[in-house]
Amino acid sequence: AKEEGSGGIRRFDPALQSLLDDRLLLEKELADSIKKGEFFLLFQPQTTSKGELLGAEVLIRWAHPVKGMIRPDLFISVAEETGLIRLLGQWLFDAVFRQIQTWRRQNISYPKHLAINVSPLQFLDADFVENLQKQMLYYDINPTEIVIELVETGLLNDKTDTLQKLHRLRELGFKLALDDFGTGYSSLSYLKDLPLDILKIDKSFVDDLQTASTHKLVSAIVDISHHLGLEIVCEGVEQQWQVERLRDMGCRRFQGYHFARPLAADKLIQWQFADAS
Ligand code: C2E
Ligand code: CA
Ligand code: CA
Ligand code: CA
Repeated sequence: AKEEGSGGIRRFDPALQSLLDDRLLLEKELADSIKKGEFFLLFQPQTTSKGELLGAEVLIRWAHPVKGMIRPDLFISVAEETGLIRLLGQWLFDAVFRQIQTWRRQNISYPKHLAINVSPLQFLDADFVENLQKQMLYYDINPTEIVIELVETGLLNDKTDTLQKLHRLRELGFKLALDDFGTGYSSLSYLKDLPLDILKIDKSFVDDLQTASTHKLVSAIVDISHHLGLEIVCEGVEQQWQVERLRDMGCRRFQGYHFARPLAADKLIQWQFADAS
């Protein structure tokens, strides 16, 4: 490789080179993996403070034939960079909607709300809403059962476009959630400006509730949200004391290892009938 200027890629950095090789490999494999059916869905329960099932978040996994299970944090970014996220995103909605169909056909009661993560690039796609509407009609999905989870990143780059899409999604009947709330920079303006239904309080806040200032901040966020008519979901809840504190602030929806890890579809159905722990 040619020597580049400062800030460029240095010549003999084996660690970096292997990282780049890995990424290129991943990129190539990712393109085939959808066709090969190597992706699958997990569902993490969202519950009341007592552990009663209210809904679930869909979390994608890649069963790589050699590397084993690859977590989304690694491959979603690659899929975004290569543009493959569009295909993957469509596969995801297909897969979730097919799962709902299966549950319906088998007369199995499934969670009332399924939350689906939509990456910023996927959301920016001009055809996003239209494609989703087609899929919804094709699978005869009731959109009020579907929550679309968005992160702050990129949402306000093109505010007019974003607002238009969010309003159309809501008119169709979908619910909208702002994910990882509090990790970005301009969080409060999002609450004011965007038509949202749900706010997901990030795990970093839940972890830090013992700090007085964090406790006050979360409590204020909960109050503001409720004033604005938003529902709160607390993420990454691992301890009973966290549940109690958040419940005392007025939170009614919880998600985290304390209640359940992400589960395969059949395990999710079993879980809702097992004793809540
Ligand atoms: P996220 O949307 O914030 O999802 C929550 C993550 O926290 C999940 O990691 C979940 O397994 C993990 N988690 C839940 N409860 C706990 C807990 O009590 N403790 C700890 N330590 N972790 C907990 P996961 O499944 O590895 O997903 C990571 C991220 O990848 C997600 O963060 C989301 O941004 C992205 N992602 C996952 N599935 C999809 C997908 O289908 N599409 C897109 N675009 N992104 C996805
Ligand atoms: Ca999420
Ligand atoms: Ca989150
Ligand atoms: Ca996250």
